[in-house]
Amino acid sequence: MAKNIELFYVTSEVSPFSKTGGLADVSSALPKEIQKQGIRVNVFTPKYASIDDSKYKLQDVPNSDFQIQIGEKFLEGKLKSYQIDENLIVYFVVNDTYYNRSGLYVDPLSQADYIDNAERFIFFSKSVMEAAKRINLKPDIIHCNDWQTGLIPIYLKTIYADDEFYNKTKSVFTIHNLAYQGIFDKSEYYKIGLSWSFFSIDGFEFYDRINFMKAGIIFADKITTVSEKYAEEISSSVEYGYGLEGVLANRKTDLHGILNGVDYSIWSPSKDKYIPQRYTTRNLSKKVINKKALLQRFQLPFDENTPVIGMISRLADQKGFDILEVASDEFMQLPVQLVVLGVGEQKFQNFLEKLRYHYPDKVGIYIGFSEELAHLIEAGSDMFLMPSRYEPCGLNQLYSLKYGTVPIVRATGGLDDSIEQFKSETQTGTGFKFYEYSKDALLNTVRNALEIFRDKGLWQKIMINGMKQDFSWRASAKKYVKLYKTLMK
Ligand code: ADP
Repeated sequence: MAKNIELFYVTSEVSPFSKTGGLADVSSALPKEIQKQGIRVNVFTPKYASIDDSKYKLQDVPNSDFQIQIGEKFLEGKLKSYQIDENLIVYFVVNDTYYNRSGLYVDPLSQADYIDNAERFIFFSKSVMEAAKRINLKPDIIHCNDWQTGLIPIYLKTIYADDEFYNKTKSVFTIHNLAYQGIFDKSEYYKIGLSWSFFSIDGFEFYDRINFMKAGIIFADKITTVSEKYAEEISSSVEYGYGLEGVLANRKTDLHGILNGVDYSIWSPSKDKYIPQRYTTRNLSKKVINKKALLQRFQLPFDENTPVIGMISRLADQKGFDILEVASDEFMQLPVQLVVLGVGEQKFQNFLEKLRYHYPDKVGIYIGFSEELAHLIEAGSDMFLMPSRYEPCGLNQLYSLKYGTVPIVRATGGLDDSIEQFKSETQTGTGFKFYEYSKDALLNTVRNALEIFRDKGLWQKIMINGMKQDFSWRASAKKYVKLYKTLMK
């Protein structure tokens, strides 16, 4: 009886309102799909400075004002809302002291995390619990995402354990990226508002510091992560578990891998509102118009026989830029052009700038965030490179498949689950994978792809294999709904 489920989907970013990475895309697409299955979905997210009230005509929510205690401080908050569909509404938690800033988690000027991030997300988690009571909206399930919401499951089982309002509420905690755990000095513990007995090995304590993600994993009723392979990796290996592999192994029976999907109303070359030329499998030859536009954008020369390799990525350790850097001189001897859109760590920006300086005819770089350019790169590139050290799910390889932009990926997490190695003999498969995290494995795989690229017929076969794949959210949303129902039994 899905009709009766009242779901809270709590997230620190949601497209198109706020975005630093894949979580924003998921938080926008998954609730839409869950709602289609007859569930009432209430998305909760902070109201950052980037969210323009007047552009979205946000509504004030009457009587939603609340007060939260953080340590000795009392802080005020309220909700604003945006109705997306009959059963889908976004609630924005408003508190200007915490959220009216230009960055989401990081100060764009200093590039450092905001020093009050612990407080900002304690406030956020408490706000959801308190605001819901104020407006008398009783959740059956609170679906939390990443460390920013990691306190909600423990609050449910402590502060709200005897609260009649929440006595039937269950929690689901989704790990989108285990490397970001929300770790803070224990001097901030008093702000959480729980007794020190929870600062233990079975609670927040993590090498004598506070760990929000760990609390989420321990106290949630169910845990999910965004691919089956990543679920396996994080619960079984030190390399992927970032110190929480043991905690996850303990909860293995409650840990489920559910692959992210794609919102094909946004990411399809046949509908894309950003690209100069739309195309489908039936008029694939038109894709080249986007390639020309892309190269022109970066003032690079066009050559039909030189493939453009695209990358769109946060510039972070996870994403494989270190092996790309070691490989770069050999890479640049190959007949390729490389186009990169990204923002993040300075050391990777420097590497990319240097690469462009040395190979001005072969390399295009845009340091910054651009939704529009991301679409053009997907449509205009021939290949898409994701050499990630680890990748919980990864979205761009899924987008690339639909755009006939053949993915070259390291076989980890969701990249391994979603890309099938192309085999010339059978003409099956959708991309190219390498296993070892090394420059040589990367280069060999790119060489292999280039070899096949020369055979236009074979290349077109891989493109079409990819474009026919269906990674829409429907199937995955059903798995979440099934999980909610299991919890409500
Ligand atoms: P992650 O969540 O680790 O950043 P994903 O592949 O899951 O990686 O999702 C990344 C999302 O963010 C994709 O939608 C991608 O297009 C987008 N993205 C990343 N960097 C940029 C950028 N600089 N400009 C525009 N979009 C970007």
